Amino acid sequence: MSKVQIFDTTLRDGEQCPGGSMTLSEKLRVAERLALLNVDVIEAGFPASSVGDFESVAKIARQIHGPIICGLARTIDVDIDRCWEAVRHSSRPRVHTFIATSDLHITEKLRMTRESVVVAAVRAVARAKAYGAEVEFSLEDATRTDYDYMCLVIEAVINAGATIVNIPDTVGYADPWSYGDRIAHIFANVPNIGETVFSAHCHNDLGQAVANSLAAIHFGARQVECTINGIGERAGNTALEELVMSIKTQPFFSGRFSTGIETKHLYGASRLVVQVTDLPVQSHKAVVGRNAFAHEAGIHQAGMIANRQTYEIMNPEDVGWQGEGLVLGKHSGRRAFAVRLAELGIKLDDQEFKAAFDAMKALADERKSVYASDLVAIARDHGFTGIPETFRLEAMTVVSSTHTTPMATIKIAVNGKTVDCGTLGVGPVDAVYNAIFQATGLSAKLVSFGLRATAEGTDSPAEVQVKIGENGHSVVGIAGDDDVVKASVNALLDAMNRLEAIKEAEAETSK
Ligand code: MN
Repeated sequence: MSKVQIFDTTLRDGEQCPGGSMTLSEKLRVAERLALLNVDVIEAGFPASSVGDFESVAKIARQIHGPIICGLARTIDVDIDRCWEAVRHSSRPRVHTFIATSDLHITEKLRMTRESVVVAAVRAVARAKAYGAEVEFSLEDATRTDYDYMCLVIEAVINAGATIVNIPDTVGYADPWSYGDRIAHIFANVPNIGETVFSAHCHNDLGQAVANSLAAIHFGARQVECTINGIGERAGNTALEELVMSIKTQPFFSGRFSTGIETKHLYGASRLVVQVTDLPVQSHKAVVGRNAFAHEAGIHQAGMIANRQTYEIMNPEDVGWQGEGLVLGKHSGRRAFAVRLAELGIKLDDQEFKAAFDAMKALADERKSVYASDLVAIARDHGFTGIPETFRLEAMTVVSSTHTTPMATIKIAVNGKTVDCGTLGVGPVDAVYNAIFQATGLSAKLVSFGLRATAEGTDSPAEVQVKIGENGHSVVGIAGDDDVVKASVNALLDAMNRLEAIKEAEAETSK
């Protein structure tokens, strides 16, 4: 088995694209997550580009342990010096220097000659090497570079001390065949390759970044540069999660190659990058999209319930995916409906089930999706008496204003006896939740809170899902209301009632 090194450039190539910018503390959170994922290299930034970039690379080099910490530098002296100054705090520092090698870039952008580019490349590699750094060299725009000249540059930088040579498809121009051919040509024609690691850095302008990276691995590359969610310049870079899961899933690769990535953290890393950037992930995004493991069609759902492998090539748990696997819609069948009801703790007899299923299909015809709160409502209409209401909302007042701290007062009936409380919060939902926790003395912790509009417009009904946990139990509460605060309160009370029911059932069995 050959190890493919994962070089993550979310904080450099990803950070420099429109919408990608992150604060220092956000970069640190991402870097911590990358270390948890067990990436081999973190490219933390471009230290000479700004004081902020320098400081974040230096801080990541000091604080993040495990991966190699790398900085980007042009071939000019000041870049190499600043880069070393920033990465040297890491126990495993790398300087990544680059210069363009295509004739177009050499003449039009750099206004240099092929000869002077080789001189600059060699000087920069030697300068970084003299500091004691591990040195990676990139031939910018390699995929539009003349084959013979490319091999000459590679030979020269290896002689100067580069141990990693990157062949970037800077403009996303390659396809798997031409890119693979280029890598194969290097292995056949550069005489001093030795232990040099070749690296792929692909862009997705033609949607080929992951495919090109896989081709590079097949032809000998042992490092791939990628980003979480594929963010990066223009159409983005090779998506880390897609590349890693391709290697792991397809036997053609998994039989020969492995990465060190802890895949169960992929989904969490994806969500974190969505949170700290302005770059959302589309629903049908491979591996980490909301629909990546969702099945609505009845035939697919029946297959999934019988054996998940019928329509799933990966286990959602393997990438830490969280979402609704069986989505109820107009294409769904009875079996998926039964599974979703069971998840919500709802039991119906055969006749009630049949009527409830028809009601669900009727609702699905009107709307695109049927949410968990709709299922609870449908089940209530068809004989489900629900779980005992240990906690019930009696009254609430919530104030959200520009000139006072948000505050809430609440009255809740607990087994028929009223308790009340008034508190402050950072916002109306926080205030009313604080009040509920204080009034009821609830010891469970809030694990997650999710709010979504179920239609367009500000008058759209809101659905709130909260998860609370106590002593290893975690339960989900759901509520819908036209008022988001009321929906939030009722979702929490719903979860509290479910938790109470579970605890009582446990007490019964232990008697
Ligand atoms: Mn790039």
